[in-house]
Amino acid sequence: MDLGIRGRVALVTGAGRGIGAGICEVLAGEGVRVAVNDIVAERAEAVAQRLREAGAHALAAPGDVTDEESVRGFLQQVKDGLGAVDILVNNAGPPLGSGYTAGGFFSPFEATDRAFWDRITGTILTGMLNCTLHVLPDMIAQRWGRIINIGSDAGRVGRPQLALYSMAKGGVASFTKALAQEVGKHCITVNCVSPGATETESSQEWLRDYGAQLQSQFPMSQGLGRFGRPKDIGAAVAFLASVHAEWITGQVLSVNGGRDMPD
Ligand code: NDP
Repeated sequence: MDLGIRGRVALVTGAGRGIGAGICEVLAGEGVRVAVNDIVAERAEAVAQRLREAGAHALAAPGDVTDEESVRGFLQQVKDGLGAVDILVNNAGPPLGSGYTAGGFFSPFEATDRAFWDRITGTILTGMLNCTLHVLPDMIAQRWGRIINIGSDAGRVGRPQLALYSMAKGGVASFTKALAQEVGKHCITVNCVSPGATETESSQEWLRDYGAQLQSQFPMSQGLGRFGRPKDIGAAVAFLASVHAEWITGQVLSVNGGRDMPD
């Protein structure tokens, strides 16, 4: 199926590795011109270089999504190098790290502090708001746009020891629904792809330590012998970015091997 997005410009945040890099690869494979953002410049450049070697138009657009000046700067770089952003994928998020220990990523709420709250909400929520705010004017002017926010099933069902993360990802889902209602009149769709456990650099320690006990909760994992992969998320993003999805907006799509099935 031709997705009808060849030549469109996508910006994927936090895409120097993991899910974001997988999304870039799938979009580039569909002929999309891809800007690879990451706070770690070398990672962004390495992914962009890999895409160029495979024949794609790609550039690195490093910067910190939590910093509005940085966002303005890398968006200008994308506009100069590839053109105005047609497809924004808000993917940047905090690293999961390892086990369920007080002070780590998986912490009981009472063991968290304000610095942790700011880090989680900053990366997930402020980052999404900054990038969305600054791509909307061009999308509105061109009367076409796709905004795809990467949520998490933790935000749909709430997970113990992930209270802050669940809250922020719940915010991603509700922002998606509210914004979709505001910008539909400009032919812009806004959707959320909500991964379950996905094999990335960020999740590898957690899946190494807890994968065996988690597997029984994922129906497809029992059959396929794996968890999600970045390209599974990329495929869902590419479909939602496509011309075939212009009637789909304000939706949250879990890509999770069947673990949670929220209505
Ligand atoms: P990774 O940590 O592997 O990749 C995210 C990248 O984003 C890292 O390179 C990270 O850099 C970068 N980044 C962090 N903060 C910023 C920032 N302020 N500005 C720009 N880039 C930044 O994560 P995943 O690929 O595993 O996850 C991607 C998204 O998917 C996240 O939103 C995550 O919450 C979500 N998700 C992941 C799941 C999983 O099982 N992997 C499950 C459900 C949702 P640095 O290393 O310096 O932080």
